[in-house]
Amino acid sequence: MKAPRGEMACQICLAPLNTLGVPPTYVHPIQLTTDGHEPVPVPVSQLDTVHRTCDFCGDPYPTWTLVGGDVSAVAIGSRAGLVQNFGRAWAACVTCQTHIDDGRTDNVIDRAVRTLGFGNHPQARERVAHLHRAFLHARLPGRTLITTTAWPPTTISARELPKVRDRLTRFYRGADDLPTTLRINEARPQIADGLDRSPLFWIDSNFTDLAEHAVAHLPDVTISRDLMPSTDGLLTWSRPVTPRRITAVSWTSDEDRWHLITYRTAGAGLDGKPLQRLREQVGWLTPIRAAHVREHDLLPGDHPAAALVATWLLIAQQAADIRPADIAKAVRKAYARADRPAPQVRIVGIRGSRTTTPSGTRPAPGDSAPVRTTRFWVSGHWRNQPYGPGRSLRRPVYINPFLRGPDDAPIKLHTTVRILRSPKRQPEDQQ
Ligand SMILES: [Zn+2]
Ligand SMILES: [Zn+2]
Repeated sequence: MKAPRGEMACQICLAPLNTLGVPPTYVHPIQLTTDGHEPVPVPVSQLDTVHRTCDFCGDPYPTWTLVGGDVSAVAIGSRAGLVQNFGRAWAACVTCQTHIDDGRTDNVIDRAVRTLGFGNHPQARERVAHLHRAFLHARLPGRTLITTTAWPPTTISARELPKVRDRLTRFYRGADDLPTTLRINEARPQIADGLDRSPLFWIDSNFTDLAEHAVAHLPDVTISRDLMPSTDGLLTWSRPVTPRRITAVSWTSDEDRWHLITYRTAGAGLDGKPLQRLREQVGWLTPIRAAHVREHDLLPGDHPAAALVATWLLIAQQAADIRPADIAKAVRKAYARADRPAPQVRIVGIRGSRTTTPSGTRPAPGDSAPVRTTRFWVSGHWRNQPYGPGRSLRRPVYINPFLRGPDDAPIKLHTTVRILRSPKRQPEDQQ
């Protein structure tokens, strides 16, 4: 891994690039197998995803950047297999970081030897050990969360949301750094305070489908306070949305602006102690992009937080059925002990599409994805509609969606269709 400042990655394969010579030319890492394309260098700060690997063991989901001794251009083994230009900043996966924190650097070496495919080659083990020592002996305190690692998605349930929020809040208040390119370091305390105040919105799978369709053609939208279902909030979709694969967004008010922060989930595939450490130290969500918006700012339809704006608009045009989620007794008690009001979790579904269950049966608590027993409307287009004082303002409304669901299922005529086709008229309309 190269120095984080000014680091470049290839826009085509998303691999971090090494430099050769002065002035530098950017080259793919020598051990990387590509389809032969020339590297297209772009600053890492412009990418949501960078295909890094752990510099200790090669794991594809590195989580921390550590700064240590300068280790460059080291060849390992006689097979001329691996040459790396590490530099002073190394990426570490959660498992290697756990071993390092526990003082078990021998485990890190074992893991590296295993994953790099050196088998029992004693000389290779010695070289790896030497390399790790050179870095770790000069390690500086602190570490920075890597936000560009694209983990497979982790499903977050509505019941988990209070804990997910509280871990995120703790991370913002903690000592671990975020990349300076996110530009939220100074606002971390305000963001944490805003999250503490936030109602938590959990978007069910049908509404997530609707939002995903709707955001694809979202026009530019003027930000206003009354667009938001609450002044501060944390919203999660039931699966990652948009090509950015984001799962959550927070909006927190800070004087005359809001911090909009998009998140992806981290940790899928981990288990045992490394998973426990990640959940304790980071939680479930890692911030991907941050933006500041003010009242009346025009947010482009392709903004990183566009999926949030589309979801807000759908809620504002009354396409949503919002109901409180059951809060686990243990969670309520824990909040009470901490002298906090019980968390508010709101489940957002398409209005009128709530699955009917056979009489006498109820879905078990925590049941996922109910079977669709009705058809509903999920795609359409946006049209700017006047609203507000003297109908002087314009806001996009999503109309003419198409049918989805089992062919023989009844269509919910009196619900979503009415709402999405002819949005609730403003009082001004009737004059
Ligand atoms: Zn490439
Ligand atoms: Zn590792």
